[in-house]
Amino acid sequence: MQALLDQDKAFKNFFEKRGHYPKFKSRYDRQAIRYQLDQRQIERTYHAGETLKLPKLGTLNLRWSQIPAGTPKMVTVSKTPDGRYFVSFACEVEISSLPLTGQTIGVDLGIKDVAVSSDGWKSGNPRHLKSQLKHLKRQQRFLSRKQKGSHRRYRQRLKVARMHARIAAMRQDFLHKTTTALVRRADVIALEDLNVKGMLKNHHLAGAIADVGMGEFRRQIEYKAAWAGRKVVVVDRWAPTSKTCGHCGSHQRRMPLSVREWTCPDCQTRHDRDVNAANVILKLATAGNAGCHARGGGKNLGDHESPTPVEARTDAEKFIEAAGLERAA
Ligand SMILES: [Zn+2]
Repeated sequence: MQALLDQDKAFKNFFEKRGHYPKFKSRYDRQAIRYQLDQRQIERTYHAGETLKLPKLGTLNLRWSQIPAGTPKMVTVSKTPDGRYFVSFACEVEISSLPLTGQTIGVDLGIKDVAVSSDGWKSGNPRHLKSQLKHLKRQQRFLSRKQKGSHRRYRQRLKVARMHARIAAMRQDFLHKTTTALVRRADVIALEDLNVKGMLKNHHLAGAIADVGMGEFRRQIEYKAAWAGRKVVVVDRWAPTSKTCGHCGSHQRRMPLSVREWTCPDCQTRHDRDVNAANVILKLATAGNAGCHARGGGKNLGDHESPTPVEARTDAEKFIEAAGLERAA
C-alpha cells in the first residue's frame, strides 16, 4: 500500500517536472519498506522498547538503540548495503523549544575546523574520510577485479559497504554533535551560504567538502533550529568574510589560508582568522550587507583596496587554497 502511494508521488513529481522518470529499485541499493501502523491495533503490535509486530514479518527481534517518544504512526524497516537491518519510527511528538540564551552568533564553515562560532567555539575536524580513503580505495580496487556474480565479489562488496557505513556513521556522529552544540549556543545563528553543490563540481574541492558533509551540516542546523525555536539567517555567499575586519570593517587585499591570526592595520585589533570570519558573518546577518559592504565597493581605508567581485570570491576561496596546499604538501 505504502509503495503505491510512493509511486503515485514519484509520477506526480515527474509530470510536474520536479524529478526524473521513476526507476525500479536496484536490489543492491538500500532496501526499505514502510508500514503505516494500524492505530486500532497498536496496543497489540507495539510496546515501546519491547516488541514490534509487523504484517508478514511477525514479531521482530530488535535491539532498541532508542525508545521512541510518543506513539509511532509509521515504521520503516531498511536494509543497509552492508547487510544490516534497521527499524525507524515516525512519531508525532510535541517538541518544546530550548530556553532562550540571549545570544546571537555567526558561524564560519571551513576546513581546519568544520564550524567556528563568533564567540570563539571551535568544532575541530575529524577528517574521517581522508584517513580511511586510502584503505577504502584499495578495497574498491580489489572489488573491481573480482569476477561479476562470484561469491568473492559478493563478499568484497560487503566489505566495501561496511567501510562506507562506518565512515558515514562517524561523520554523522560528528555533525550531529556539532550542530546540536551550535543550536544550543544561541537564539539566532548566522551562516554563510556556501554553494555546496557548485563547489562539489570542482574536483579538487570535492574531497575536503564531502569529507565533512557541508550540505548535511546545513540541513541539520536548520531542522534542529526549527525544533528548538531558534532562527537561522543565511548570509550572501559572496561576502569576503576572511578578508574583512570584524571590528572596523576594513578589507585586506590578501589573506592566505596559512595566516591563522592577524592584526588589523587600521584598528590594531588582533584576530583569530576563523573567529573573525564568524564575526563578520554575524555582522552581515544583523546589519545587512550595507553594514559591511559585502559585494565590492568596500570601505576603503588606508591603502587597502576594496575587493572587486572577483577578488571577493570569498570563502569558497579557502577551499580552493586548502586543496592547493594539500596538493603541494
Ligand atoms: Zn580593523
